[in-house]
Amino acid sequence: MEKKVNDQDKEQGYKVCECGHGVHLLQAGFDIDLHPCEQCGEHVADKDEFFRMNDGADILSK
Ligand SMILES: [Zn+2]
Repeated sequence: MEKKVNDQDKEQGYKVCECGHGVHLLQAGFDIDLHPCEQCGEHVADKDEFFRMNDGADILSK
């Protein structure tokens, strides 16, 4: 089954997985550990960790 990725997802570089427990990384360059999602089994990053890191990077780049 093919995953639907829309333009906005591609642009932001990530997509929250189907069950909402993890984050798919759509672009290389995120320095974060991946693990199989507890709910859907996809390889995802921890959502809390990812957004914490992303917020920090955002602030630094502005
Ligand atoms: Zn999941």
